[in-house]
Amino acid sequence: MTTKKGYFGEYGGQFVPETLMNAILELEQAYQQYKDDKDFKNEFHTLLNDYVGRPSRLYYAKSMSQDLGMRIYLKREDLNHTGAHKINNAIGQALLAKKMGKKRIIAETGAGQHGVASATSAALLGLKCEIFMGKEDAERQALNVYRMKLLGAKVHIVTSGTATLKDAVSEALREWSMRIEDTHYLIGSAVGPHPFPTIVRDFQSVISYEARAQILEAEGRLPDMVVACVGGGSNAIGSFYHFLQDSSVRLIGCEAAGKGVDTHKTAATLTIGKAGIFHGMKSYFCQDDYGQIAPVYSISAGLDYPGVGPEHSYLHSIKRAEFVAITDDEAVEAFEYLARCEGIIPAIESAHAIAYLQQYARTLPKNSLILVTLSGRGDKDCAAMARYRGDDIYE
Ligand SMILES: *Cc1c(COP(=O)(O)O)cnc(C)c1O
Repeated sequence: MTTKKGYFGEYGGQFVPETLMNAILELEQAYQQYKDDKDFKNEFHTLLNDYVGRPSRLYYAKSMSQDLGMRIYLKREDLNHTGAHKINNAIGQALLAKKMGKKRIIAETGAGQHGVASATSAALLGLKCEIFMGKEDAERQALNVYRMKLLGAKVHIVTSGTATLKDAVSEALREWSMRIEDTHYLIGSAVGPHPFPTIVRDFQSVISYEARAQILEAEGRLPDMVVACVGGGSNAIGSFYHFLQDSSVRLIGCEAAGKGVDTHKTAATLTIGKAGIFHGMKSYFCQDDYGQIAPVYSISAGLDYPGVGPEHSYLHSIKRAEFVAITDDEAVEAFEYLARCEGIIPAIESAHAIAYLQQYARTLPKNSLILVTLSGRGDKDCAAMARYRGDDIYE
């Protein structure tokens, strides 16, 4: 759906300093060359199958379906190696970097999930790996910092700005511009300057490629609705992509409302944000009255980003996808609900998508056929969820 090169409608583009332009162009060229290359595709899909464990299962959630009066299928990205969808993109980009002759990858990370996926891919493919992580996040996610180091990565602690994800992205972009010869910037979501949003979308589109065939096989028809959570938007765009042309299929993106969209403690970009330019792209961002990027908040570190990928801004603008905001409370409720109901502990990010079904079940026709992407597993969130309920499990 790209119109102008690198744009989705009026969103996207390449808003980068001169020093990065060469790197971006080199990447664009390499991707053009490899994306339809038979050997590249073979290698990528062999790794997805044998190493990541794809295709991921499509699971009919019987108890939840009965309880909510719908037919609900879960696309189990939580069963992937390293526990989430992020590995699909990390392996794809690491492989591309290797083909380009790069010896080193750098990546940003918020909660550490993308850092771990990147470090994993680097270990797998024999690349050096350095991760940029905000000081705040590194302290909150000490276990993931240890994992990255164990996997052979070097972790740089970022203290600028709010010392969180957006500052880690800025720092990684800066580092890339200083060392483009041997380094690829492995961005973790469908954001940033073109060609990143397209590359990440393509690597993650394996989710809807599989799910579309799986649900046709199971039900003999397309779903009425596809639901996914949206941080930067990579698991959502990957889940939507092969359904974009199916006009009967509603596409629902669930953003993090945090404490509520009428408070300042929120990350619901498309619900409360405005169009702007940041991190190399024109898209929607949470901004203050002066157009500065606003500090954002969500209980879910993976959704705690002040922007959203440009393709989502476009799908929002043409009303092809709908975006709803789910609060912390609703997400925690859904986290506990899925655990009890189906014996599946979802990532708190993914719980935002489950919460949508709980919140909106009454408004949907009975027996609607629903596909929900479970972007990751919830082991990483257990301590925080217990704390949310007033229980310190490490006491
Ligand atoms: C990082 C993460 C997300 C959010 O990222 P997207 O790019 O929006 O998909 C969602 N779920 C999980 C499990 C994550 O780790």
